[in-house]
Amino acid sequence: MRYVYLFHEGNARMKELLGGKGANLAEMTNIGLPVPCGMTITTDACREYYNNGKKLPEGLVEEVTRNLKAIEAEAGKRFGDEDDPLLLSVRSGAVFSMPGMMDTILNLGLNAATFKALARHTGNMWFACDTYRRFIQMFSDVVMEIPKDKFEHILQEQKAAQGVTQDQELSVESLLAVIDKSKALYRQEIEEDFPEDVTRQLFLSIEAVFRSWNNHRAIVYRNLNKIDHNLGTAVNIQAMVFGNMGEDSGSGVAFSRNPSTGERKLYGEYLINAQGEDVVAGVRTPRPIAELGEDMPEIFEQFRSIAKKLERHYRDMQDIELTIERGKLYILQTRNGKRTAQAALKIAHDMVGEGLIDKKEALLRIDPEHLAHVLHRQIDSSADLTVLAAGLAASPGAAFGSVVFDANEAEHLGRIGSKVILVRVETTPDDIHGIVQAQGILTSRGGMTSHAAVVTRGMGKPCVCGCEAVKVDYEQQLFTVGSTVVRKGELISIDGTTGQVILGAVPLKDPELSKEYQTILEWADEVRTLQVRANADTPEDAEKSRKFGAQGIGLTRTEHMFMAQERLPYVQRMILATTTEERMGALLPLRIMQENDFYSILKAMHDLPVCIRLLDPPLHEFLPSLEKLLVETTELRIRKDNPQLLEEKERLLAQVVKLHEANPMMGHRGCRLGITYPEVYEMQMHAIFNAASRLTRDGYTVLPEIEIPLTISKAEMEILKGRCDRIARECMELHRVSFTYLCGSMIELPRAALLAGEIAESAEFFSFGTNDLTQTCFGFSRDDAEGKFLPAYIHQHILKDNPFAVLDREGVGRLMRIAVEEGRKTRPDLMIGICGEHGGDPSSVEFCHEIGLDLVSCSPYRIPIARLAAAQAALKHPRPVG
Ligand code: PEP
Ligand code: MG
Repeated sequence: MRYVYLFHEGNARMKELLGGKGANLAEMTNIGLPVPCGMTITTDACREYYNNGKKLPEGLVEEVTRNLKAIEAEAGKRFGDEDDPLLLSVRSGAVFSMPGMMDTILNLGLNAATFKALARHTGNMWFACDTYRRFIQMFSDVVMEIPKDKFEHILQEQKAAQGVTQDQELSVESLLAVIDKSKALYRQEIEEDFPEDVTRQLFLSIEAVFRSWNNHRAIVYRNLNKIDHNLGTAVNIQAMVFGNMGEDSGSGVAFSRNPSTGERKLYGEYLINAQGEDVVAGVRTPRPIAELGEDMPEIFEQFRSIAKKLERHYRDMQDIELTIERGKLYILQTRNGKRTAQAALKIAHDMVGEGLIDKKEALLRIDPEHLAHVLHRQIDSSADLTVLAAGLAASPGAAFGSVVFDANEAEHLGRIGSKVILVRVETTPDDIHGIVQAQGILTSRGGMTSHAAVVTRGMGKPCVCGCEAVKVDYEQQLFTVGSTVVRKGELISIDGTTGQVILGAVPLKDPELSKEYQTILEWADEVRTLQVRANADTPEDAEKSRKFGAQGIGLTRTEHMFMAQERLPYVQRMILATTTEERMGALLPLRIMQENDFYSILKAMHDLPVCIRLLDPPLHEFLPSLEKLLVETTELRIRKDNPQLLEEKERLLAQVVKLHEANPMMGHRGCRLGITYPEVYEMQMHAIFNAASRLTRDGYTVLPEIEIPLTISKAEMEILKGRCDRIARECMELHRVSFTYLCGSMIELPRAALLAGEIAESAEFFSFGTNDLTQTCFGFSRDDAEGKFLPAYIHQHILKDNPFAVLDREGVGRLMRIAVEEGRKTRPDLMIGICGEHGGDPSSVEFCHEIGLDLVSCSPYRIPIARLAAAQAALKHPRPVG
């Protein structure tokens, strides 16, 4: 096996073998840029090193030695030469960039003799001393693992002894003293002399770079960025050039465009008389790259044209390292530069205009999640933050306000213009009025599909949930995080983009929606095949969704319409009714209210489809809690002062006890309610079809879709669809109008997915409720898993991602595939969508495209993300035409 390539033998396509840095050095060499000569040891060699029980692979030493001869010939210097020595850098370079995670050794090849030769040959003793002391320190730290601080300490002491503060102010004598002391420290730590044999220095360094692949920070970085731990790193060995040879030398780092705004202008910094690491280490304050134009106009022009050439060559913004050695420019590295969301959009957009890339490539380059960053208010990154704790980043954006623990209080304060953050253990539909008025929500329990998370994402309101470090004490109206106590009224900030909870009010920045943003989304719409709809429960949300580009509503959850304070008494009367007549009496006013709700939503979405889901949660959610009622009735019994109220409460209590369930998520909910309380679903159907009839009469085009939740069988669906059709007919006849509607089923239980073929005989469309489907496929409670055991599952690589956030393709996805296949066998043109939270997650959207769904539906604020993700999916997996 071949382990070594000279730079001119490689190219940019050999990234897997040569690593990103090696492949780019090769590419730059081949296009004629001034790159110091060198070689790359392949990632194969690194993997082999680990397979071999950490021994250099056989033949590597010979290959490196042979190629070193070629480098010596090109550089016109010899490694270890005692007259004019070649010095080398040995640097890691993984396939995926892992900036700063692995190790580098510079100035390699110095010993007592070559050091003197360097001084003699350059005529610059100071430079030789500075280079030597840097090498001893780096080699000792990286290869021998002697803590760097011990060398820094020597340097600091010497500066103090000489009475100076800057490294460059050290005299040659001082530097010589630093070298001697550093060598003495090495001897003391390692119990042998600093190696004089340059070949030994080289191979020890190569091994150290291989080892650095598995240092702690590299492992953490790979875990975080989901990079395979078995890839290994390449090693680049390159002739050194020196930026620290005097005032005509220097080093810098520059981006070909501004990585923060995307502006097409060189952006970066440099230092005169410095080696590369000085620029990033903050030893001296570097100067903006534009000033290089004044210091060294010719070099600056040359660099500018190289940056342009690199951009055109790679067709992307570049992050470039440069060194100037005695008035000659060298390029040491180039890579695609990291950038902010705004910059990513602007650069992709502008590069299409410049003819560098086409629209397709522009779309593929933008991370859809970046669109969310642009849409929400953000924390000003220059601010100092006191981070208290971190929970789940449930709904992006940042907010600050004073802490309140009660939804009524949040509502009251919010209405009078105060900024509040509502802090709860978890929220329920009862808290909705407080959530509306709060700036943001913090909960200590609940996951990414908990009530707080779903509702706030729908509203585009920041939310951090499942923050278990926050211990809420409602009694005392405070919460604690460790020893920190935060009381009601104190200011906190939350960042729903990162999950951070911060003490005090932090400065926020407003989003700026650029024209590039709009244009890119228009390009996305041209290529995507998936329809994108919104999950919206109110006319306001419906309107907002239209603005974000929704092509309809994919889910209206009707339970929210039952929750409003003024409606709850009617809902409770309906639940407590003992006869059908009594129940019908309570349902009438509700029907009028719901009809108005549907009227407004259908009107806001005229010409577009609106999918309305009939009532889903168990009825006891609309009644007071069992605990509260027990306390109240006990008090009334003891006080004996209000027998009438006691009787009422006891009646309520009896009903709550009757409805109480051990496991409500699997209990009397969804269409089971529709089967056992037919009047409730009938009321909703009447309200929908009456609203649709009135709108049709008023000249609007309405496209209602009635959706039955939690179905498990064709028999259920048949009963409910039969009712739906009857009521639709009645309403249309009554109003003398006609419109089209559909009646379909949610697929959110494994049985429904498995029996989709039968269900499709009755259901006219399917919508995957992947929140419940994930919960029931895994047997993980969606409200508990994320705060309890899921992090451990992810940490221990049992699961790759949180399945409530990123669709589990293997399990839940398999059920979905079955349902799509079976459903379309029965009804080839069956419309199928998804309306669980996954509908706004890019990877899940890609999967939905792949398995042939027609539409995805998500919270209004995630619509732009879904539009772009759908476009990317269409570009990556084109669907066969026809
Ligand atoms: C689902 O289960 O995916 C769904 C959309 O319904 P809900 O979240 O309201 O249960
Ligand atoms: Mg559901």
